[in-house]
Amino acid sequence: VRNESLRKADSGKYIIGTTSLAGCFGCHMSLLDIDTDLLDIVELAEFNKSPLTDIKKFTKQCHIGLIEGGCSNSENVHVLKEFRKKCDILVAFGECAIMGGIPAMRNFVPLQECLEEAYLNGITTEIGAHVVPGHEDIPKMLNNVYPCNEVVKIDYYIPGCPPSAQHIWKVVKSILLGEEFSIAHDEFKYD
Ligand code: SF4
Repeated sequence: VRNESLRKADSGKYIIGTTSLAGCFGCHMSLLDIDTDLLDIVELAEFNKSPLTDIKKFTKQCHIGLIEGGCSNSENVHVLKEFRKKCDILVAFGECAIMGGIPAMRNFVPLQECLEEAYLNGITTEIGAHVVPGHEDIPKMLNNVYPCNEVVKIDYYIPGCPPSAQHIWKVVKSILLGEEFSIAHDEFKYD
């Protein structure tokens, strides 16, 4: 728990970045579930690099980075390391970011077997398919799916699948404003 508020940017607001790595985007959908309270958030903070703004490259250092999903490929690792550099505080939200979640179920199966099932042997694969796609422009799959804290330092965790919007924003606002917060048991959400 922080006990002092962060210094705002020159715009008079806090800056937030968000990204989705190996996840289902459900955590980002949950972010938007806050409905009209989003207007309060926008008074307090502005979003920089995020799927919510479609800003592809950081244009400012962020106070907080929110990370959905774990690392399944080389691109995920690259993006996560970039967020670590560009965000003063990094928050892993949702089980995929914290534990690897559903994508990490593939960790029990050798990678080559997973790829062959997906591209060659699955019931939905094209008849006659005989090549697993591979190109230097396609991010390399990692042998396992890794939770974010195994790749970079994570400062805070918001559990849930997905965590509710109220839970996420309560944590984010409390960190920004340096206020103590507590989460009641029934606020933890797993759909
Ligand atoms: Fe989707 Fe749940 Fe993973 Fe969030 S934690 S990305 S909702 S599977």
